[in-house]
Amino acid sequence: QTEFANKKILILGAGISGISVANILQRLGASVTVSDAKPGDKFDRDFTELKEAGIGLALGNQNEELLAGIDYLVLSPGISIYLPLVATAQARGIAVVSEVEIAFRLSAAPMVAITGTNGKTTTTTLVGEILKTTGRQVAVGGNIGAALSEQALEVGAEGFVVAEISSFQLEGVSRFCPRIAAVLNLTPDHLDRHRTMQVYQETKERIFRKQQAKDYLILNYDDKAVRTMAERAPGKVVFFSRQQPLESGIFVKDGQIVLQWEGKTVPICAVENIKIKGGHNVENALAACAIGYFAGARPAAMAEVLKTFPGVEHRIEPVAEIAGVAYYNDSKATNPESSIKALEAFAGHIILIAGGRDKNTDLTEFMKLAKERVDHLILLGEAKERFAAAAAQQGVQNIHQAASFTEAVTLAHELARQPQVVLLSPACASYDMFNNYEERGKVFKELVRRLG
Ligand code: ADP
Repeated sequence: QTEFANKKILILGAGISGISVANILQRLGASVTVSDAKPGDKFDRDFTELKEAGIGLALGNQNEELLAGIDYLVLSPGISIYLPLVATAQARGIAVVSEVEIAFRLSAAPMVAITGTNGKTTTTTLVGEILKTTGRQVAVGGNIGAALSEQALEVGAEGFVVAEISSFQLEGVSRFCPRIAAVLNLTPDHLDRHRTMQVYQETKERIFRKQQAKDYLILNYDDKAVRTMAERAPGKVVFFSRQQPLESGIFVKDGQIVLQWEGKTVPICAVENIKIKGGHNVENALAACAIGYFAGARPAAMAEVLKTFPGVEHRIEPVAEIAGVAYYNDSKATNPESSIKALEAFAGHIILIAGGRDKNTDLTEFMKLAKERVDHLILLGEAKERFAAAAAQQGVQNIHQAASFTEAVTLAHELARQPQVVLLSPACASYDMFNNYEERGKVFKELVRRLG
């Protein structure tokens, strides 16, 4: 029996993850209600199964009455701890926990936890592939899809649970103690939510706060805010660096990924053999190899995974090659920083499709790089006028404005000649034309396939 038997639990967030954790806790003997601020008719699923399982449902309003008699308040990924209801719950002494905390408490297997502002999904997926080479059972999840707790329950003590963890989830951890944790980077992206960089940093540090001396913490040496976390680490710190060889840790030396630990030098793989493109992905590979090594993966097996791992959908994803021109879908790039990473991944000759919902971001650096590497800039969506002005100001040549997504892709196709590449990397949110970046990426891929 777990601590959740006979407890009254309220789950915030009726997404896939919230629902699957509701089912689990109900099966474990808890009395569960799922609540979402969104009204029922705004969901594209019905909740029949949930109701049939005897799970309560409160959609469309989140008032304090929901808290009556509640022992635990569980936050789905993506639910902010700054909701007024959460503060009220805390004031009443209700245990507020995130979904990953539930997964941790229910899991028999050691956990690997990965956080950072960028690169979480890529690194988590890569680590999953690397750990599968050990022959042990591996569950991968966290931020998207089915609840981590559901997967965690299926893995025995000999396996691994690999979790991608957003800072939102870290806001609600208490006992959470990963055997191996990694912090990839820290940039001021979520400041709207975490108020200050200091709070954001403190939140990220909760990933290792409960670690013990035997546990590992993988940190980015090249990121100053992340590097200094070592001072507060209870476990063994393993640094990774793309920029310089380290006395101890994992780094790039003479074009090779090398791990140096307790007097041992372990060469892993040539950087040029890593299939996923871009310098940022070298960082993700370094972090993933450090995790893999300390989890018992063989260096040769890791090298093989790096050679073949195709990356995650919508992140500089190769789509097709038409008349010698390669098309890439980087729809996940919803801000200029991400699109800069994509531009950096190609030496030049880029036909870039960008634009969408404007977030009023600073475009200076993005357009400076575009001037160097972009042959044609095709703009669309609500942001196109502002993007065009910013591009012109930095001296970007060949700026086009498209009236529709289809027109943008068709124009790119008409313009493209070998050795150019066509890259969708919008630097904008998708909400002016799509429900989310996934839909935008899928539409792009469909349009490209039709060209071919
Ligand atoms: P997350 O899950 O943290 O959002 P992803 O792996 O989905 O990260 O990558 C999202 C975007 O972030 C990528 O398209 C890329 O532009 C950028 N990115 C990925 N890895 C890194 C990294 N290590 N450093 C900086 N930016 C990165």
